[in-house]
Amino acid sequence: MKRVLISTLLLAALCVCEGIQFGQLCSGNPSNRRRTQDIWGQGQYGAGRGGRTHKGLDIVCGDGDTVYAPLDVTLHGKVIVYTDPAKAAINSGINLRGEGLCFKLFYVDPVKTSGKILKGEILGTMLPMQSVYPGIHSHVHVQMCDKTIDPTLYFN
Ligand code: ZN
Repeated sequence: MKRVLISTLLLAALCVCEGIQFGQLCSGNPSNRRRTQDIWGQGQYGAGRGGRTHKGLDIVCGDGDTVYAPLDVTLHGKVIVYTDPAKAAINSGINLRGEGLCFKLFYVDPVKTSGKILKGEILGTMLPMQSVYPGIHSHVHVQMCDKTIDPTLYFN
């Protein structure tokens, strides 16, 4: 009996999260189109990156495009993406929480780093990715705080 109850509660929790869908992330990409193969690699969760794997999902976004909050979120400070000074032009992101999720967006210059932003409101600007990775499909990298979770779950 106890086990049945616990299973039911777990299922209920899963259903809440599965119902969450990220809204439009980038002004130039209303359908949240994902980065596919380019000369630098692929954008899906789990893609190979030399000796490691890609722990996020890349959503296409043109350099300088406006980035929107994909959910009602609270902001929890900037992300340092790289230590390599050669990548300084795109070394910014933002830590976010909202609707029960904890996640990060990379390659975004945020309008602020604390407080709240509602879904669809302006969160920041896409950084000049072509200056660091010429020929790449410029993108915002979406990564859950728990890297074992594939953010694709939250995109249609
Ligand atoms: Zn990525």
